[in-house]
Amino acid sequence: MKTILDLAKAGECLPAEALEDILYRSNSDTHRELFQAASEVKAAHFGNGIYVRGLIEFTNYCKNNCFYCGIRASNKTVERYRLSKEQILDCCFLGYQNGLRSFVLQGGEDPYYSADSIADLVFSVKSLYPDCAVTLSVGEHSFETYRLWKNSGADRYLLRHETADPIHYGRLHPSVLTLKKRMGCLYDLKSLDYQVGCGFMVGSPYQEPKHLAKELLFLKEFQPHMVGIGPFIPHKDTPFREKTGGSLTTTLVMLALIRLLLPDVLLPATTALGTIHPHGRELGIGAGANVCMPNLSPENVRAKYSLYNNKLHSGAESAAEISELARRMNAIGCSIVLGRGDHPSMNLRKE
Ligand code: SAH
Repeated sequence: MKTILDLAKAGECLPAEALEDILYRSNSDTHRELFQAASEVKAAHFGNGIYVRGLIEFTNYCKNNCFYCGIRASNKTVERYRLSKEQILDCCFLGYQNGLRSFVLQGGEDPYYSADSIADLVFSVKSLYPDCAVTLSVGEHSFETYRLWKNSGADRYLLRHETADPIHYGRLHPSVLTLKKRMGCLYDLKSLDYQVGCGFMVGSPYQEPKHLAKELLFLKEFQPHMVGIGPFIPHKDTPFREKTGGSLTTTLVMLALIRLLLPDVLLPATTALGTIHPHGRELGIGAGANVCMPNLSPENVRAKYSLYNNKLHSGAESAAEISELARRMNAIGCSIVLGRGDHPSMNLRKE
């Protein structure tokens, strides 16, 4: 009889009961075996290389009111900031000087930036650094806007769907935001030929094993190029301030299952994971993650992009941040890859 581990290793979607078993009834040996299997699959596709993307959090203004997020519009205690185009280009310059060839421009849904101004920003980064990949992560927009940005040079787009279950989605967001709309955006992005990243929070309020099982089914169907997952961490100025955060083990198990399900996916060990455990990102790499996203934002704004309590930020300058990351990766037998780090299917296309 096939065990749950066999199914997971074969890249099968696990049903809710199996997930419950592996999450809550398995011992650490089973987890170790799962992480080992995920690491082997990752090594087969990527060796010991870890892709690096420079993250630039360029605005913490947001018009939305997601119940979990510290930069939600109704949070009056957060000090808001926006980076100017010059500041953003300076961040890219610093990243480029330190070898990075992949930049992620992330922000809240800030109406201050028109579609044209983001297009101009992308165009400027791509003109100055044509050998770099640009990823946008600025929320939900129309097909036309996504097309404009693609035509301006954007390569990739990150838009976590947050949960694949519409009722659960409704418990995490105000009713003006719907899963249908969010999923529509993801399919639009894919049809426009972006490399697309989706993802979800692990242990978000009201999440049950049946939701995690649904996540796997959705990932299998959608076939994203990237999957961003991290533990939910409460933020003191949100309606979810009293909720329990997501666990390290559940996040690691989900990372491993995603790696087995989508063997060549780009899978970051996220900042949230690094926030709940001092070696969270290394543990994430050990469970199948293969991407890290050091922060290139100016040191004086990093604390203000406070999605959740105690968000990890070193206060170090970008150069120090990148060399510290390289050191940490070397310490676990990995090495950072300073290149665009496209999804393997893109390289096939170029050949
Ligand atoms: N406005 C952009 C970027 C959102 S911030 C967008 O809509 O895509 C990036 C991610 O941070 C979110 O997608 C969410 O999954 C995560 N996040 C927000 N609040 C969080 C919290 N309290 N704990 C953990 N992750 C959180």
